Amino acid sequence: MKNSNLYLYRSGYRAEVDWKKGRVISAPPRQVEDDGYGHWFLQPEERPFRGLSSRFANFSKTWKKDFKKDFEIFVAEFGLLGITGLPEDAYKPPMYGESWKEEIDWWLHYAGEVYRLLRLYRIIRRARVDKNFDAEGALDEIIIFEQAYKVSHTCKLQDNGQYNWTEHKEETPFVKAVWKENGIETGQVFPETMLPIDAAPYVLASTISRNLAGGVILGMGKVTPSKKSPIGYSIAEQRYTNYLLAAIYNDLWELIRNEKPVEICAHSECANIFVPQRKTGEYCSDACKQAAYRKRKAETQKTTATRPPLELLQ
Ligand SMILES: [Zn+2]
Repeated sequence: MKNSNLYLYRSGYRAEVDWKKGRVISAPPRQVEDDGYGHWFLQPEERPFRGLSSRFANFSKTWKKDFKKDFEIFVAEFGLLGITGLPEDAYKPPMYGESWKEEIDWWLHYAGEVYRLLRLYRIIRRARVDKNFDAEGALDEIIIFEQAYKVSHTCKLQDNGQYNWTEHKEETPFVKAVWKENGIETGQVFPETMLPIDAAPYVLASTISRNLAGGVILGMGKVTPSKKSPIGYSIAEQRYTNYLLAAIYNDLWELIRNEKPVEICAHSECANIFVPQRKTGEYCSDACKQAAYRKRKAETQKTTATRPPLELLQ
């Protein structure tokens, strides 16, 4: 699998899940090396693999059989998200920062959002390539558009010296895009005449770019001598982050900007969202492919077994 163009610098702490307290916690000691002269070497930068966002998104399905095991593996491999809480306002960027413990609920909050964004992207993409696809119907399952009101207040002084406030709600020619699953506003407002399928790409792009804010930093890449350059050196730029969650949103951003396909695993008990490696890949993994095959085989045997003996049919 290809790697991202982003550098992820890790804190050097491993992490583990504390199910009793409902937290992901950092586990000392720090994985650093000392050169003997007072210099500490942190872990080198990494380029996260492409598909990080879909792997993370699947944790939104906590009911799955292997949820706990898979979650522990992910946490052991990647460490903490790098957030210090959830923003009060749904349409503010994540609270990026160095963290020692993170509530599992915060993880599920963002896994749910990344999952919804991937589904939204899949619908928009499918609507273009599959003419028989009911994109509007699929969109209705994810986003709803609510009437936006202009709210104003008037104030009247009463005989008893008290003020009496009245709220006036006035319909506007705009609608607000709201996530259907939890009623959280996406922060996007559209003219009521706009088709949902035309509004959807704005919801997708604005949500992801908001969640990259403060997480991904533009820095220097390699500085190399160059005869062509008027300053004698060519300076490359490099995007980087210290936060895993920003790397996840960046993966989603690159996926969409590169117009990669996203699929849902055809094995009914899995239904993971994933980025297929081959064009025909219907399953998220070989394990799912085999499990689906075994299931089909078992079902065929069942129907054969319940059929009356041939002689009775004749
Ligand atoms: Zn699968």
